[in-house]
Amino acid sequence: MAIRNVVIMGSGCAGHTAALYAARANLEPLVFEGHEPGGQLSLTTLVENFPGFPEGIQGPELIANMRRQAERFGAEYQLAQVSAVDLSTTPFTLQAGKDTVETRTLIVASGASARWLGLPSEQALIGHGVSSCATCDGFFFSGKDIAVIGGGDSAMEEALFLTRFATKVTLVHRRDEFRASKIMLDRARQHEKIDFITSAVVEEVTDVSKKEVTGVKLRNLKTGASLELPVSAMFLGIGHIPNTKVFEGHLDMDQDGYLKTTDSVFTKVPGVYACGDVQDRRYRQAITAAGSGCMAALEAEKFLGHGGFIDAS
Ligand code: NAP
Repeated sequence: MAIRNVVIMGSGCAGHTAALYAARANLEPLVFEGHEPGGQLSLTTLVENFPGFPEGIQGPELIANMRRQAERFGAEYQLAQVSAVDLSTTPFTLQAGKDTVETRTLIVASGASARWLGLPSEQALIGHGVSSCATCDGFFFSGKDIAVIGGGDSAMEEALFLTRFATKVTLVHRRDEFRASKIMLDRARQHEKIDFITSAVVEEVTDVSKKEVTGVKLRNLKTGASLELPVSAMFLGIGHIPNTKVFEGHLDMDQDGYLKTTDSVFTKVPGVYACGDVQDRRYRQAITAAGSGCMAALEAEKFLGHGGFIDAS
């Protein structure tokens, strides 16, 4: 089998943008779409903060457009997940399904998946009032009451951000101690629009039959008492899980599994780049993921040029 110039893992904003740039450089990239094709944008509804769409654009449409654009220049997509890698020698070897692929450069854009509670009612209402991204979806709940779940910095940040739109934000946390930094917790506690319910878990999100969120059913873990909280949206702030398991022992990661990079996209292995949410726990925006996908592809192109594999003049 011919050795690939560029293989891209992941088909969110970062992966598609890397594919577009690599394809336009005639590198004929192969994209393994991963376990959540389209990434987090495919789970959201209207995207109003991606420049170029004054009226906004649906997340799934935006991601489909990105893919079409990359395919127009020759990017090849395979609905498969990389299950093993060998980065110790070049070309690198990847296992995806039954295929073994060799590649001179690898762009890791496998993203991070929002952590969900896992309740059937929650899953049924994603995009209909259940969201893991306040920046993306908060605006739709102007003048409404909102629940935020979690007790870390993400939950505090989401709750504070959502006060711009919501009449009231109720932060629900399963313990009465918080992981959040003191400064974030104090800010949330002092905010007049934010209430706290602690030692409580969500048992159900209503109302699946109406295809909209009308409330959350809570259970107090200390007393066992039930409580119904009427809200129009539930935002999860219980963390993200970077999709990096396959790189354990191959690439450097921080304590939570995010890939470590220098100068935005360089991993410790020359020829292997990481972009998007898999290496960015700070910004996590579609536009920043797209930007770093572009950087990774430009670096891969430069690397191949230096290796004499392509004419990079
Ligand atoms: P985190 O610190 O791991 O907190 C996750 C929270 O969600 C915890 O309170 C946890 O509860 C709760 N949780 C997890 N699974 C749950 C479940 N199944 N049901 C109910 N609750 C659940 O995650 P994070 O808040 O995303 O922060 C991750 C890292 O990014 C942290 O280092 C944080 O400081 C950083 N960060 C910083 C900022 C900032 O500085 N502006 C903003 C966002 C994130 P327990 O506490 O009971 O485990």
